[in-house]
Amino acid sequence: MPQSANILVIEDEEPMRVLLAAELADEGYDVVTAASGEEGLALFDAKRPDLVILDIKMAGIGGMKTLELMRERTLDVPVLLFTAYPEYKQDFNAWASDDYVVKSSDMAPLKEKIRFHLSARRNR
Ligand SMILES: [Mg+2]
Repeated sequence: MPQSANILVIEDEEPMRVLLAAELADEGYDVVTAASGEEGLALFDAKRPDLVILDIKMAGIGGMKTLELMRERTLDVPVLLFTAYPEYKQDFNAWASDDYVVKSSDMAPLKEKIRFHLSARRNR
C-alpha cells in the first residue's frame, strides 16, 4: 500500500474530473477537485496538496496562468499538466511544470508519473 498523499485535481470537464477523482481514490490517495483555476488556487492555499494535476484548457485564468501563480507560491509541490493537446509540451510556460501527460483512456501512465513524483518529493 503506498503512503497516503493529498492530490489536487484541477479539471473543468466534469466527466474527466469525476473519473480522475475515482481512479486516484482507488489508488489510496486523498483527492480534492476543482473545476477552474481560480477554485484550484483557493484549494491549493487551503489544503496544501502533495501533488497537483492540472488541466490546461479551462475558462477563466486557464491552466498556464494557474501554474504560474502556484509557482509564485512554492516550487515544492509537483505539478503535472494533464491535457488532450501534446503541442503544449513545446510551450515555454509548460516547462515550469514537473511533467506533462497527454489525456488518454489509459490512466496507467498518469498513475506511474504520480507515484514517481511523490516518491521523488519524499526523497529530496
Ligand atoms: Mg479543459
